[in-house]
Amino acid sequence: MYRTHTCGELRISDVDKKVTLAGWVQRTRKMGGMTFVDLRDRYGISQLVFNEEDNVALCEQANKLGREFVIQVKGVVKERFNKNENLSTGDIEIIVSELTVLSVSATPPFTIEDNTDGGDDIRMKYRYLDLRRSCVRANLELRHRMVVEVRNYLDKQGFMEIETPILIGSTPEGARDFVVPSRMNPGTFYALPQSPQTLKQLLMVAGVDRYFQIAKCFRDEDLRADRQPEFTQIDCEMSFVDQDDIIETFEGMAKHLFKVIRNVDFEKPFIRMPWIEAMKRFGSDKPDMRFEMEFVELMDVMKGYGFGVFDEANYIGGICAEGAATYTRKQLDALTDFVKRPQIGAKGMVYARVQEDGSVKSSVDKFYSQEVLLSMKDKFGAKPGDLILILSGSDAMKTRKQLCELRLKVADELGLRDKNKFSLLWVIDFPLFEWSEEEQRLMATHHPFTAPNPEDIPMLDEHPEKVRALAYDMVCNGIEVGGGSVRIHDSKLQDKMFDVLGFTEERAQAQFGFLMNAFKYGAPPHAGLAYGLDRWVSIMAGLDSIRDCIAFPKNNSGRDVMLDAPAPLEQCQLDELNLLLKKEE
Ligand code: ASP
Repeated sequence: MYRTHTCGELRISDVDKKVTLAGWVQRTRKMGGMTFVDLRDRYGISQLVFNEEDNVALCEQANKLGREFVIQVKGVVKERFNKNENLSTGDIEIIVSELTVLSVSATPPFTIEDNTDGGDDIRMKYRYLDLRRSCVRANLELRHRMVVEVRNYLDKQGFMEIETPILIGSTPEGARDFVVPSRMNPGTFYALPQSPQTLKQLLMVAGVDRYFQIAKCFRDEDLRADRQPEFTQIDCEMSFVDQDDIIETFEGMAKHLFKVIRNVDFEKPFIRMPWIEAMKRFGSDKPDMRFEMEFVELMDVMKGYGFGVFDEANYIGGICAEGAATYTRKQLDALTDFVKRPQIGAKGMVYARVQEDGSVKSSVDKFYSQEVLLSMKDKFGAKPGDLILILSGSDAMKTRKQLCELRLKVADELGLRDKNKFSLLWVIDFPLFEWSEEEQRLMATHHPFTAPNPEDIPMLDEHPEKVRALAYDMVCNGIEVGGGSVRIHDSKLQDKMFDVLGFTEERAQAQFGFLMNAFKYGAPPHAGLAYGLDRWVSIMAGLDSIRDCIAFPKNNSGRDVMLDAPAPLEQCQLDELNLLLKKEE
């Protein structure tokens, strides 16, 4: 037996017990004739004491211990003279009588402490050392707790956990696939699932009724901040349900998780906000509702007074930042620069401060009378000390999105995005299609299996862009934490959908024939949703990045710097796979 107790276990009630501990040397301190060692494992830290007066040789052995050596000690638990309130074991120490070095360690490239001296890159390269730090490990523990809770919750609701394959066929609709060459079938490729979408629908045809899976998903997208090429979904599907049933089931799960993990109660049902309303009020399909700062449209009060920028605009709208009239000219210029960055693309920003006497001082005073500015102020319900920021543009949706960025930026600056506050809502009634500039065609907003709102089906031919989907996203603090839809279970309607998406019958058959054929054999009405596990954990843990709750994440260029992947293949492997690499120019 290597140990009788873990390093986080012993308490004052254990005094005088003979114990054996094993773990890593966090640090050693020599004080006079005594040597103190902090011994660490997953569960905590215990203080070991070596006393020269008792055993010189043993003490010398202890003085030679380096950081991160793995050792085993035997000794007796004693009450500590100087107690350490920050440690669960802080009341006791172990007077050591026997020391065995189980494994030596090279000097670690950074300190294994919460406040480490290691930068991001080095910690990624030595992730196994980074994971020894309690603050990083705590995120994995939280992730585990959440997965256990999810499994229990869904099991109680009659869901069955089923694994679907990782080697599947490519479905070019959506993001780009990661592909795997097949050795046994030369010239052919598997694809890794972007999600188990079609497979879970087939499970509904198979009569599984309620399915879930903690599913790895793979998407070969250009990496944006905080995206991982592989990530984990809590993937679910149910038969004989409508949109309300799904929303109730998974709202219940969200509330359960918040209760058990964060002890937060949500008394009321979450708001269900139509997509168009979210866009108009917040310029986003994932509004952060921890704070207000809703958009106010100003076309009727600000257009037509000779200010060219506004007179030419098709949308003028603004936000009111409470108490922010103290913003200096420099801060306002910085905000203007922010919205003018190419990623955001606004042409400029107009601002107005509400003075102590209630009058308005703006950057466009020469075009507007005080009377007009006051009516503008009234539209916001702004008070003395408030700051109004206005954007305009020719495309209303684009301008709203720019205003959304500004709203979030200002909220960040004013400290309104509190990590310990949680605001959840459903966004519903998404448009069924969206226009892809890149492909110059309509694409399914969610995926091609999403059912249209029955009321809108008559518009499918003439005005597909106006058709609403039976699709829903759950949003927490401005982050999409899950989403799903009611599916088409009628093969005729599915054919129609492919038709509107511009698929020929042959292409639809080639890509999705397996699903459409299955639907010919009695498909139950079904609907589902997937929660993003990584995002859920990072929100619950208050992390800035999903990377921090993944054991072995990829870096921002999609590389695993620890494994040095991706990497070239040996020529013999390429030969075996029948692959010929294009010569670099
Ligand atoms: N498969 C969808 C996704 O990955 C979720 C769903 O519709 O259930 O977003």
